[in-house]
Amino acid sequence: MEDRILGLHHITAIAGKAKSNVDFYTKVLGLRLLKKTVNFDDPGTYHFYYGDEQGSPGSILTFFPYEGAPKGRAGTGVASHIGYSVPQGSLDFWIKRFEQHKVEFENPREKFGEETLPFRDPDGLQLELVVPRATDSRKPWETAEVKANVATRGFHHVTLTLRSVQPTAAVLTDILGYKLLEQNGNHFRFITDAIEHAAIIDLVEMPEGSRGSGGAGTNHHIAFRVKNEEVLMRYREKVAARGLNITDKIDRNYFYSLYFREPGGVLFEIATDNPGFAIDEPLDKLGSSLLLPPQYEGQRARIESVLPKLS
Ligand code: ZN
Repeated sequence: MEDRILGLHHITAIAGKAKSNVDFYTKVLGLRLLKKTVNFDDPGTYHFYYGDEQGSPGSILTFFPYEGAPKGRAGTGVASHIGYSVPQGSLDFWIKRFEQHKVEFENPREKFGEETLPFRDPDGLQLELVVPRATDSRKPWETAEVKANVATRGFHHVTLTLRSVQPTAAVLTDILGYKLLEQNGNHFRFITDAIEHAAIIDLVEMPEGSRGSGGAGTNHHIAFRVKNEEVLMRYREKVAARGLNITDKIDRNYFYSLYFREPGGVLFEIATDNPGFAIDEPLDKLGSSLLLPPQYEGQRARIESVLPKLS
């Protein structure tokens, strides 16, 4: 089991205003700000990580916020909806909360037999709350307003919208260990039995769909989870053996990563559990100060002066 892909590790999206992003995910949605750092490839931009108390893989949503970034467009070749698992009976709470905070949402609907509440973040990123068929036992992060009985448990699924499902499906099944669970029209649900949660990838086929474009309110990439670097490098060989271009191992400070673009156009990453978010600050202080990787520590004053204010 341990050498398999263990579902989703994290999802990374693009945002506009940094402050609206932090306010929405920490206050309205009640996630923990796990890490406040910079884009390692562009240190004048924040990189925010949100998740549960520990930053457990499968709960981590990250953003690169660019003030004034043009809005992206949903379409084919991108990850579209991000699904969070919530407890049975919590959707009424969320509907009231979304009304109060003027969050854009749609009426709950059933998707593969599960109650689903679609909504959008301030930049238009498409999210969903899902009440899973089986109770999600993951321990949630709790805030004063979003208590454990209603709080998100981590990812339920992510949806990829594609011109053609087959080439992407083959990567999921042949390389990453997923199986087709169910099909409903043009909507295909894949699942891995290597892990209990954050185990679902939905593929939606839109042969005539126009291609999505990156920008605020769109997903940048999705990352699959492996236990450690040894397993990571085994997957590097498997992906390369399929003739797909894959990067060398990259040190992301909190995990090690590989990136490759799957044939449908979505950027996939594979990321390790180690070393985790407590590597540079104690668990009870996660997200409280701006953390820089060693190569940027010498430029801290300048970096802090260009980053947008959050309060
Ligand atoms: Zn990533």
